[in-house]
Amino acid sequence: MDEPSYLDHAAGSPVLPEVVNAMVPALGLPGNPNSTHAAGRRARRMLEEARELIAARVGVQPSEVVFTSGGTESNNLAVLGSLGDPARPQLAISAVEHASVAAVVGRAGEVVRLPVNPEGHVLLHAAEQLVGAQTAVVSLLWVNNETGAIQPVVAAAELAHRHGALLHSDAVAALGHVEVDLSSNAIDLLSLSAHKVGGPVGIGALIVRRGVRLRPIGFGGGQEARLRSGTVPVALAVGFAAAVERACNRLEPEAARLRALRDRLIAELARLPEVRVNTVEPAGPAIVNATFVGTRADDLLLLLDEAGIEASTGSACSAGVHQPSEVLLAMGRSQADAAASLRFSFGPDTTAGDIERLVAVLPEAVARARRAFG
Ligand code: PMP
Repeated sequence: MDEPSYLDHAAGSPVLPEVVNAMVPALGLPGNPNSTHAAGRRARRMLEEARELIAARVGVQPSEVVFTSGGTESNNLAVLGSLGDPARPQLAISAVEHASVAAVVGRAGEVVRLPVNPEGHVLLHAAEQLVGAQTAVVSLLWVNNETGAIQPVVAAAELAHRHGALLHSDAVAALGHVEVDLSSNAIDLLSLSAHKVGGPVGIGALIVRRGVRLRPIGFGGGQEARLRSGTVPVALAVGFAAAVERACNRLEPEAARLRALRDRLIAELARLPEVRVNTVEPAGPAIVNATFVGTRADDLLLLLDEAGIEASTGSACSAGVHQPSEVLLAMGRSQADAAASLRFSFGPDTTAGDIERLVAVLPEAVARARRAFG
């Protein structure tokens, strides 16, 4: 049988060969970048070069890049670290945030949810009523990792600032797919993760713009500008920088290529009976979400897997059973529809052949999944 078609890049993209090549010299080195001996200084140089590369690609200063263990930690740090002023106990988050922002609910501060329309785009006029002098931070995904919806993050930053609040954006699913350039907007905090762009798992960054006051949420040696204690994994940082370089260098042609594949898939999905596409412009080029009415997503995933297509629901999985997507529920879908939805997400190795294969096997897989459910 042919190699499976991996259409789950939004969950994790394979490490690219150039990233491995960049990491190898750093992997073999001893040296904590905080040590003052020659090996430590060498590690520090590599780390700072990686920081400079990433900073340049997202339009910030190197001192504004705080390395973390990934998107989850960056999001936790951004949101929880913004709290602290007793006059601003409130977090304002969109109703479609990733769990690493949404799960903060009930653990800290008071939370308001900014509603979205049925396409998953945040309603800024509603946000205007909900954000106020009590809000510490507004958090908004740049590109939704389940549906691909692009949020109006630049306008949201202006809105947040009008109320004296910070704007945090989770750009984990945006990096490499849409232009992420903080030199031309007022976003205060930005989360990134390496393994969604062909870098290694276990490293990410929080961009903290100069002048933004953030409190650490973990304590120790005070690394990373006292915001994130713990020895920074230099080899992972080097791999992260190589992946960001590659993703940003090829952004435009790659986005155009993936957008064409996405639109081809969307057109085919729209022709299938009782299939609703949940990805609506403005949306990133690499994600398609659809509801296969009358199926259980887990059945369909299994059938597609047997046919050599690796996809996902995109939503949280607990004990191996997928919960209906909170994102789709927030977009007004029923429980049944939210539990009948799949995400297909693309990356550098996704080809037209993968999409044709998916399109060829879907009608039969959906029919079988409907019979299994019905
Ligand atoms: N935010 C988004 C939008 C994501 O898709 C993910 C990964 N599922 C995360 C945050 C978490 O990133 P990490 O896996 O690096 O912790």
